[in-house]
Amino acid sequence: MKRTFVIATAAALLLSLHVAAQNAGPEAKTEIDIAVAAMGTAGLQSIQYSGTGSFYATGQAYEPGGPWPRYSVKKYTMLVNYTGLAMRQELVRIDDEKPPRGGGVGGYNPTTFQGGIRPAPGDMVENQNTDGHTDVGAVRMWLTPHGFLKGAAANAATAKTSTVHGKKFVSFTAFGKYSVTGTLNSQNLVEHVETLMDVAYTGDTLLEGIYSDYRDFGGVKCPMHIVMREGGYPTLDLAVAEVQPNSQAALDVRGSTSPAQGNVRAERQPEEIADGVWALTPGVEGSILVEFNDHVVIIEGPGNDAYTMATLAKVKKIAPDKPIRYVVNTHHHADHAGGLRAYVAEGIPIITHESHKKYYEEQIFKNPHSLNPDRLARAPRAPILETMKDKRVLTDASMTIELYLLRDHLHAVGLLVAYLPKQKLLIQADSYIPRPGAPPLPAPSPYTINLVDKVTRLKLDVTRVAHIHGGISPYSDLVAAAGR
Ligand SMILES: [Zn+2]
Ligand SMILES: [Zn+2]
Repeated sequence: MKRTFVIATAAALLLSLHVAAQNAGPEAKTEIDIAVAAMGTAGLQSIQYSGTGSFYATGQAYEPGGPWPRYSVKKYTMLVNYTGLAMRQELVRIDDEKPPRGGGVGGYNPTTFQGGIRPAPGDMVENQNTDGHTDVGAVRMWLTPHGFLKGAAANAATAKTSTVHGKKFVSFTAFGKYSVTGTLNSQNLVEHVETLMDVAYTGDTLLEGIYSDYRDFGGVKCPMHIVMREGGYPTLDLAVAEVQPNSQAALDVRGSTSPAQGNVRAERQPEEIADGVWALTPGVEGSILVEFNDHVVIIEGPGNDAYTMATLAKVKKIAPDKPIRYVVNTHHHADHAGGLRAYVAEGIPIITHESHKKYYEEQIFKNPHSLNPDRLARAPRAPILETMKDKRVLTDASMTIELYLLRDHLHAVGLLVAYLPKQKLLIQADSYIPRPGAPPLPAPSPYTINLVDKVTRLKLDVTRVAHIHGGISPYSDLVAAAGR
C-alpha cells in the first residue's frame, strides 16, 4: 500500500517537473516525429508479440493494498491492430504458487472445469479483446510502446515534451480527461508509459507499461521485456520471444462484441434460502439479506454503485419498514467490496475485519474518482466503519449472526465467515466453490481446510452453506472437499 503512494507521488513529481521545462506545438511534434522514426512506428499497421512470464490478478491481493497474486504464464500473445483500432490478448496461465495466496482464479466454469478454488488445476485460458473506438480501449492501446506514439501523434494538439535529468518526456491529453505520459530513452525509444484510468473499486488508478531490452525487427523496434503495472504493482511481466510487425493475424483483430456484464445479476429475484435469510441474486454472486425484528443486516457489498442500489431496492421490497443496520464485508477483494463505496454514500455502517480499516479509510473510501465519479465522489461522506477481531455477534430475539475471523486463511488476510445458529447455516466467501461435473481436485484446497477446521474447532452445528459466489451446499460437501 505504501509503495502505491510512493510510485504515485513519483509520477506526480515527474509531471510537475515536466511543466517547468516543456515544449508544446511544433517543437513537441518534432520530438514525437524523432521517436516515431527511432521506433519504426510510421509504417506499423499492426504488431504481434508472444512470450512467457508472470500474470498477476488485480483486485485479488492477499493483504489489503498488497501486491497482486502471481500466476505463471505458459503462453502469451498480444495482437495489436493499429489500423482497425483493436487489440487482443491471449493468455494461458497456471496456478503454481506454493502455497497459493490471495484470489484470482475467477468463477468456476462448468464447461471447462476451470476456475473456482485455488490451487486451480490445469491451464486457465483467457482471451480478451479491446475495442480502440471506446475512450478506455484507445487509452489501453496507447499504453503499448508503439501505440503511445500513435496516440501522441493523434493528439498532437495537446502534446508537450520536456527533458528532466537527461530523460525526454512526451505527454498528451485525450478525450478531455486522460493525460498519457511517455518517457523516451537516449535512443528515443519508449521506455515507460503511464496514465490514470478509472477502476470502479480503486478510483483513478495508475496504469503503467515499462519497456526495455529493445531489438530491431526489420526497422521496427520492439521491447523484449514488458512489465505492466496497475496501482504500482505488476499485472504482467513478460519475456518476449517472438515479434511480428504488420502481422495479418493482428490486422484481423476486432474489438469485443460481448455484452456488458452485471445486468444479469441485478435482475435476479430474491429467494428466501432459510427462515429470514434471503439470497438477493440467487445462484450467482451477490449479497445476502438477514432479517432481525426491527432492522436488517446485509452480508457482502459486491459489484458497484448500480449493484448496491439494486440491492437496496430489493431490501426495501422485502422489509419495507426495517432500516439497514449494517453491511458485513467478508474481505477486501474487488469482487466482494466493489459496492461498499455506495453503502458509505448511503450512510450505512460497515462491519469488516480490523486489518481492513487502514486500506478502506486511506485508500478505497478516499481515492479520487475524478475520471468516472461514483455516488460517493459526487456526494462525499465519512464512512462509518466498525471493525472486529476474532468474533462479533449480532443478535436480537428473532435472529443471531455470529461473525468469525478465519485466522491464517491463505485467501485473504482478515477473511470473515458468518454463522446463523438458528438456521444452522454458514455464509462463506472463497473458501469453497462447488465444482459440479468436475473431477475432484488433486488435493484438498487449503482454503476449504481452513474453514472446515474452524467450524470443527468452534463446534458449530452447520447443516448447509450459502456461498457469496452463488449456490448452497450441504455442509458434508465441504467436509468431503477438505478431506476431513
Ligand atoms: Zn476473494
Ligand atoms: Zn470471491
